Amino acid sequence: MATKITVFKGDGIGPEITDAVLEILDKAGAGLSCEIFPVGEAEYERNGALIPEAGLASFENTRVLLKSPITTPVGKGFRSLNVTLRTKYDLYANIRPAKSNQAVKTPFPHVDLVTFRENTEDLYVGVEKEIDADTVHAIKIITREKSERICRAAFRYAAAHGRKKVTCVHKANIMKLSDGLFRSVFYEVAKEFPSIEADDKMVDAACMMLVMHPEVFDIMVMPNLYGDIVSDLTSGLIGGLGLLPSSNLGDTMAMFEAVHGSAPDIAGKNIANPTAFLWSACMMLEHIGQNETAKNIRRAVDETLAAGKTLTPDIGGTATTEAYTKAVIERL
Ligand code: NAD
Repeated sequence: MATKITVFKGDGIGPEITDAVLEILDKAGAGLSCEIFPVGEAEYERNGALIPEAGLASFENTRVLLKSPITTPVGKGFRSLNVTLRTKYDLYANIRPAKSNQAVKTPFPHVDLVTFRENTEDLYVGVEKEIDADTVHAIKIITREKSERICRAAFRYAAAHGRKKVTCVHKANIMKLSDGLFRSVFYEVAKEFPSIEADDKMVDAACMMLVMHPEVFDIMVMPNLYGDIVSDLTSGLIGGLGLLPSSNLGDTMAMFEAVHGSAPDIAGKNIANPTAFLWSACMMLEHIGQNETAKNIRRAVDETLAAGKTLTPDIGGTATTEAYTKAVIERL
């Protein structure tokens, strides 16, 4: 029987890459029944809501959401819908695997690491206060409970996937209380997993190491803001944002999305790379137990990338989104 999922079609390149991914899922024979909703600015202009109530109700029912990127106004306007969804549904573990692909040439052919980003607190709670016209305060919140569950998720993942090491990334030399708590909880949780090595690095040093010796990292776990920044950095190591998928897992609900945004600079040009979103869809298929279909799609993508003839411009080719999609479908 087909598994019901909810799909949010966002802004910018969102609709193009959603169409590409849904077509590939369909041609790969994924057992899915999709409830599809347009979301974002255009939907707000049409119906006065960024996400239609029916879309939220669908996600609450299916518990699985495949979400394409949504534009967030900078410095004004509504709070990020992504942050809203992650906090509203307590999707606390943002998992972002970055792996070099031999077909995409970069200076770093041996990257194979996973970022665990805490998704619900830190500076992203959005508590900002204007003290006077020239002074603004932003509140950073770190709690034992939320640090514990993201650190445990990282170690559990390491144990389940045969990984050797988990590194805590922080800035506890400066934020002694908040990042200090995150770091000490990390080492408490580490004791539950004696066979997995645990170490920690300051976020600045970790960034330097990532661009000199990324192969020293295996699993990394960190508070929200560092996770946002460091994971984009890891996408750069493997060839760009078009290649970095993610899952946002809670205890009972899960959202799958590419790490990149709505890329307004290339929207509507038929050149967006749908791979990150497609790999996010593969993570979704694995989450709902359709492992063979995910494997088939991953193989077809690898072969398409290795053939090198229909690469999108972000990874050095000249192919359109449609041509790349067709090439993947031919290899399924
Ligand atoms: P972005 O990730 O959209 O784009 C950064 C650069 O990477 C651009 O040059 C873009 O063309 C390129 N790029 C991104 N995805 C690509 C793809 N699939 N194929 C080819 N090239 C790709 O970041 P931005 O420009 O800073 O943000 C644009 C909007 O997206 C903002 O409103 C931001 O808030 C939003 N955003 C949304 C999400 C999300 O929905 N999860 C995540 C990040 C940013």
